[in-house]
Amino acid sequence: MSDCLFCKIAAGEIPSNKVYEDELCYAFYDIDPQAPTHFLVIPREHIPSVAGIGPDNAALAGHLLEVISRVAKELGLDSYRVVSNIGEQAGQSVPHLHFHVLSGRDMTWPPG
Ligand code: AMP
Ligand code: ZN
Repeated sequence: MSDCLFCKIAAGEIPSNKVYEDELCYAFYDIDPQAPTHFLVIPREHIPSVAGIGPDNAALAGHLLEVISRVAKELGLDSYRVVSNIGEQAGQSVPHLHFHVLSGRDMTWPPG
């Protein structure tokens, strides 16, 4: 999608602090970290949110989770939280599917 911030980040058109990339996805540190470690994992393909996952792209969604698991291990994270906000009320501000990975501090439940 031409006018999407995260499509542009995945394409390298807007600079970011890369954590990991492959042909299907891109991971980078959040510009406004909410924990000592806070990065985002996004598909290169524009999908608006988790609500846009269906039978046709379920394998891609699984890949994103596998990447989260692998990168977290590589970074030595033994406890972390994975969050994806869907829609405005849940706090989604960028309409391109992304998983937040947060680690390095105590976290409360339920989330605010
Ligand atoms: P959400 O509010 O769940 O849609 O998450 C969007 C996240 O993207 C927020 O945590 C922002 O801090 C982060 N963000 C926005 N712009 C950038 C950027 N240029 N580089 C890295 N992270 C960003
Ligand atoms: Zn996009």
